[in-house]
Amino acid sequence: MSCRVPIAAGNWKMNLRRDQALALAEGLARGLAPQGAVEVLLFPAHPLVEVVAAALRGRPLEVGGQDLHPEEWGAHTGDVSAWQLVDSGCTWVLVGHSERRSDHAEGDELVAAKVARAADAGLLPILCLGETLAERQQERTLEVLDRQLTAVADVAPTELVVAYEPVWAIGTGETASPEQAQAAHEFLRTRAGELWGATRADQLRLLYGGSVKPDNAPDLIRCEDIDGFLVGGASLDAEKFLAIIHACGASAA
Ligand code: PEP
Repeated sequence: MSCRVPIAAGNWKMNLRRDQALALAEGLARGLAPQGAVEVLLFPAHPLVEVVAAALRGRPLEVGGQDLHPEEWGAHTGDVSAWQLVDSGCTWVLVGHSERRSDHAEGDELVAAKVARAADAGLLPILCLGETLAERQQERTLEVLDRQLTAVADVAPTELVVAYEPVWAIGTGETASPEQAQAAHEFLRTRAGELWGATRADQLRLLYGGSVKPDNAPDLIRCEDIDGFLVGGASLDAEKFLAIIHACGASAA
């Protein structure tokens, strides 16, 4: 039996205006069990991070950024630095989300530099990785996961969290089956053991992301190597996200 505390993380992407974000955060905070056995993380768009973090101070939810720049500061219009996220109340940051990899052509080297910068600033990175549909159809899933994980081998802090998010399942309504997700997670834990040793691999929290909903969360979270979820669409609805958090908590009980 692992002692990994499950994580339920909500990626709000470029959604919600300020009042909506505050109402959602408040609804989630009110709906959470007081002694929750789940770490609940919210990733608002950068302009909303500070106000959401302030509203949640003292509540059992933490806030993170959706991205960061690999450099400490400088002439990078539109980007956000690790220290600015820290000053805004973030404790976590997403790195290498597939929408960053595709919309902004982020490659493994840049993703690794971002993980290093996050660790340097004391932010806990969630490394997002996963194969495209074409890569799965070409049976290259494990090769892609290997490459994306190995890229951060030398820079990842011990607290690194990894989110396996098959690109074909993100925002599509199509979820990996528990068998597909477990196979990918088992591979990632084995590779983590080769890179960082057995103890760290055993402690590594591996989240699944890709159209997680209240009805598929219970079956996915029962898989041995799934330690929680990174949730997009369903995290914008308090009732749905609370049901997913509850499923994570039930698995930890
Ligand atoms: C995500 O954006 O990380 C994600 C998993 O989105 P969705 O849950 O909407 O598929």
